[in-house]
Formats: sequence, structure tokens, C-alpha cells
Amino acid sequence: MANQPSETMNPFENAKKQIDRVGKRLGLAADLLEVLKAPNRELTVNFPVKMDNGSLRVFTGYRVQYDGALGPFKGGIRFHPQVSLDEVRALASWMTWKCSVMGLPYGGSKGGVICNPKDMSKGELERMTRRFASAISVIIGPEKDIPAPDVYTDGQTMAWIMDTISMNTGFSVPGVVTGKPLVIGGSKGRDEATARGLMYATRECAKRIKINLKGATAAVQGYGNAGYHSARLLAGEQGTKVVAASDSSGGVYNASGLDPVALNAHKAKKGTVVGFPGSKGISNEELLELDVDVLVPAALENQITTKNAKNVKAKIVAEGANGPTTPEADDVLFKKGIYVIPDILANGGGVTVSYFEWVQNLAQYSWSAEEVTQRLERNMVQSFATVWDMAQKEKVDLRMGAYMVAIQRVAEAYRVRGIYP
Ligand code: NAD
Repeated sequence: MANQPSETMNPFENAKKQIDRVGKRLGLAADLLEVLKAPNRELTVNFPVKMDNGSLRVFTGYRVQYDGALGPFKGGIRFHPQVSLDEVRALASWMTWKCSVMGLPYGGSKGGVICNPKDMSKGELERMTRRFASAISVIIGPEKDIPAPDVYTDGQTMAWIMDTISMNTGFSVPGVVTGKPLVIGGSKGRDEATARGLMYATRECAKRIKINLKGATAAVQGYGNAGYHSARLLAGEQGTKVVAASDSSGGVYNASGLDPVALNAHKAKKGTVVGFPGSKGISNEELLELDVDVLVPAALENQITTKNAKNVKAKIVAEGANGPTTPEADDVLFKKGIYVIPDILANGGGVTVSYFEWVQNLAQYSWSAEEVTQRLERNMVQSFATVWDMAQKEKVDLRMGAYMVAIQRVAEAYRVRGIYP
């Protein structure tokens, strides 16, 4: 079946559609909605990088600062061949609502470079990262905009950015990025924070709809930072059986459950989850339609669309990825009684611990792993409850509930700052 005519795979169109839907529901004025749909600032940079073979290549990157009403901008940097300005705008918009729903004093931003890190050497990646950092240095900084890792960027990428900015400042500036290695001011618990938050959100949802996660089944799409740690924590701390997992090369299935840690070791060695001993192959499409209790899309956008939403059988969809479900597919899932824990809440643990990292950097003090985990759990439980209560009160799905909480807070910031009457 073709996608419905109004369904678009342009993530920014979808992000704006979501704002319109929520704005109407909240009764916000059309002119304020126009403000909320327009990014504050967008920077496009084209910059040269010396490649290993001696040639010079021009890369294009973006930094979009979406809305700064609640505080300095905050958002990850993605290295991917499909990066586009509209994708970065959408991701920056979602960061705005995520920071708001998680109660963090940040506006949202995002960055990206069009490249294929899999085809680049470490030296090429480092030179590209440093040039990009220099190019966007005019708008980032601890008081202005604080990047973090996203798809195909990690602690090493953040360390190169921090070093580049520090070299030009004349002293170490740890607060310019989060998701750094511990030795240069990273926070304990940041690596697994997105997944730990997702695990708490899933637990809170399961409790309310009376699913026992112990012995329940889960499938995880994407086996990177968000996906792997989600599988590991759901299995290790909730006793959930992870029966399927996938990456960009394909997926694996075992009805008796996969060992998430051994699967990660296999991926580290072979570059993919495919071929994991004791498992059978499964496609990414099949994985999404498995009869499991919990489905965790933790790869990229637009994975659940009107094409496959009717075949999704999970009881809970916990969105590790940003934007994995189109607005039209959302409606289908809601009608089927499936609880979708929306990205801005389900993966909000990552930016929450990034916030903790930044606070530790500014205070020049570091917290124990227990303190980070306790604060994260408290924040997730509280944010989930606020969203759940809003959704119950308004008789809407959790995504609408989360956006209503988030957009209401930003609209209130506009009002008290005197920008909007
Ligand atoms: P990552 O680079 O660590 O992992 C991405 C994974 O997705 C890899 O295993 C890759 O093979 C897989 N993948 C790529 N294309 C795929 C496809 N077409 N089908 C199936 N798998 C595919 O990235 P990450 O940090 O885990 O990010 C994943 C998602 O989670 C993104 O949407 C990101 O925005 C979101 N997210 C990440 C964080 C974080 O802290 N890392 C926080 C919030 C949201």
C-alpha cells in the first residue's frame, strides 16, 4: 500500500505538522504558532578537508538553533550521508520540545555534516570534525549553544570539538560540549543515559498499563548507543527478553532471547549484529512487525509509517530514535491501542545527563554515578507522570500529551519575557 497522500517523509514538515496539531489543541494563536515553527538561527558552512590521498574535499555542515526561549541552545551533531538542512531543522525543533518536556533550562538546536563516516579514516574524521567545529565556533559556546553526540558521532568527536574550541580560547573549555570522555569533564553515566531514561519511561508506562516487564519481550531496531544500552538495561534491570535487534546491515532474532552484551561484542568484532551465533536473520521491516510487548526503534526517522503501522503488534513503542513514527502512523497506532512513548520523552534521558554534565563543568565539580542515576530516574519518573496525566486529562495520546506540556512551557516563556502578549 502506498503512503497516504498527506504523509511526508520530510522530517521538518512533520515537525511543523506536530506543532500545528498541538497548537490548535492548546488554543494558541496562529501568529505564535508561526513563531514556534520558524528556527531562530540557521548556519550553513562549506569547509575544506585534506583527505588521506592528498586531495581536498569540500564538506557541507549545518547548525540550527531552533528556539532559545527557555535558555541556551542544546543539541547533538550528526555525521551521515543523508543529513539535510530540513533534517537538522526537525531535529533542532524536537530538541526544543524535549528540553522543555524534561524541564531543562535549554532551548533546542542541532547540527550535522553530510558525510559517510564509514568510508573515512580516523585522521580524515578528525580533520573534518575540527574544521566543522571551527566553522560553527562563531555560534557555539558554554553560554550559547552546547553540542553533544548523535548518529555516528561519539565521545571522541566531542573531545576533538572541545580541543579545537579550547585551542582558540587559550584555556580548556569543557562546557562547550557534552558527551565528552570522563577525563576531560564528561559525566559518569552519560554513555547509557539515553537508554537508561528510556528504560525508566518504559517501566513507568508498563506499570500503568499493567504489563510485567519481567519476562516480557522486546525488539530493538538500531544497535548503537541508544539501541544497545536499551537492550542491555531492559534485559539486565527489568528482566525483559530481547528477542530481536538490528542495525543498518540487517537484524537477528531468537525467540528464547538474545544476550545483549554478547551481541554488542559480536557487532564490535564483525561490524554488524548479523550472523550472531544462535540467531536467525530478520529484516528491519520484519523486526518492526514482530509480536513483542515492547518495540524500541533506535535508529533513524520515518521507520513506522502508514505502510507498516497497521502491522505493528507491540503494546509499547518506546522511541529511542528521534522521529521514527510519522504523524499519520501515530494515529494508526493510537487507534490500535498501542502506547507510543514519544521520542521527546523516551530518549530525553540523554539530554538530561548532558545537562548534568554541563552543570558539573560550570561548577567544576563532579558527581558520583549513583547521584547521576538517581537524579535521572527522578527526572524521568516526574516527566513521565506529567505527560501521562496531561494525556489522561485531555484524552490524547502520549505524544500529544508531551507536546502539550512542552509547547505550553515555551509559550509561557514567550509571555513572561514579554515577547508575546
Ligand atoms: P549510533 O550511531 O550510536 O547508532 C545508530 C545505529 O543505528 C547503528 O547501529 C546503525 O547501524 C543503525 N542504523 C543506521 N541506519 C539504520 C537502518 N536504516 N536500519 C536499522 N538500523 C540502522 O546512534 P545513536 O546515538 O544510538 O542514535 C540513534 C537514534 O537515537 C537517533 O535517532 C538519535 O537521534 C537518537 N538519540 C540518540 C541519543 C544519544 O544520546 N546517543 C539521544 C537521543 C536520541
